[in-house]
Amino acid sequence: MSAREDHDWDLAVVGAGIAGLTAARVAASRGLRVCAWDALSPGGRLVNIGEVVGYPGVKTTGPDLMSALLEEAMAAGVEIAYGEVTAVAPGFAVTSAEGDAAARAVVVATGLTDGGLDVPGDWTGRGVATCATCDGPLHAGKPVVVVGDDEWAAHEARELTAFASRVTIVAPGEPRWSAAPDGIEVRRGTVTGVLGEDRMTGLALADGTELDAGGVFVYTGARPRAELISDAPGLFAAGDVAGTTPYLVAAAADGLHAGLAAVEYLEES
Ligand SMILES: Cc1cc2nc3c(=O)[nH]c(=O)nc-3n(C[C@H](O)[C@H](O)[C@H](O)COP(=O)(O)OP(=O)(O)OC[C@H]3O[C@@H](n4cnc5c(N)ncnc54)[C@H](O)[C@@H]3O)c2cc1C
Repeated sequence: MSAREDHDWDLAVVGAGIAGLTAARVAASRGLRVCAWDALSPGGRLVNIGEVVGYPGVKTTGPDLMSALLEEAMAAGVEIAYGEVTAVAPGFAVTSAEGDAAARAVVVATGLTDGGLDVPGDWTGRGVATCATCDGPLHAGKPVVVVGDDEWAAHEARELTAFASRVTIVAPGEPRWSAAPDGIEVRRGTVTGVLGEDRMTGLALADGTELDAGGVFVYTGARPRAELISDAPGLFAAGDVAGTTPYLVAAAADGLHAGLAAVEYLEES
């Protein structure tokens, strides 16, 4: 199967995380001409995961799994393009920061936004972070707070114990993690404000208490980056953006299904 003359690609994949790279590899290995765009770098969330947990039969780190996925995709013939895709018009005309292209089918695998706190002021880079492996070392010897109630908030809290003098989890909802993190205080509550002037010194909670903290790692408030999804025939969504259970294995499986669905669609059109 080859691209029609009036199209640059058979399949455009938007977002080269585990879902997008899996969809791209599957389609390329069946003979399609596939390009995968990423706004940052291939790998998506994997790039910021230290030890990967919950991936059946695999013991690895995020960057190592990312390298293996990228290598497999490129070996199958996938071309990687860098740049944020800003529009997917009917047809499909793909508009990106690095230029435009035309494709016969599209897989959108753009994942979730980072989490955020619903508090006054912009505290980004002044103590509020979303990645323990990236920003944890900046808080060596200081108390930090993790805001979140899911498996990944607990996982990140465990990683932060290697750096911080004390880690406290503030869980807005009923905790959904598989195992309570050992030696970490868990408080139910919501954050109403960040304390401090140039940099944060603590957090105010809805129950009126305050917590000393040099940094806060936020794992709530993420939402699907779904702006490019439409119901156009030939457009498929995969991974976290499509609402799959937010695990690597689920995103990979969803990417596989989307890649195969795109192949079937192009064979029939
Ligand atoms: C802190 C944390 C730790 C986790 N740890 C684990 C773990 O140990 N084990 C596990 O199974 N799961 C873990 N997860 C869940 C897992 O990381 C996700 O479910 C999975 O990465 C989703 O993959 P994805 O391909 O759908 O999206 P992502 O990995 O988010 O990839 C989306 C990609 O799309 C790109 N993109 C977005 N918009 C555009 C655009 N407009 N144009 C071009 N590119 C775009 C992004 O740059 C990104 O590279 C963790 C999640 C979090 C938050």
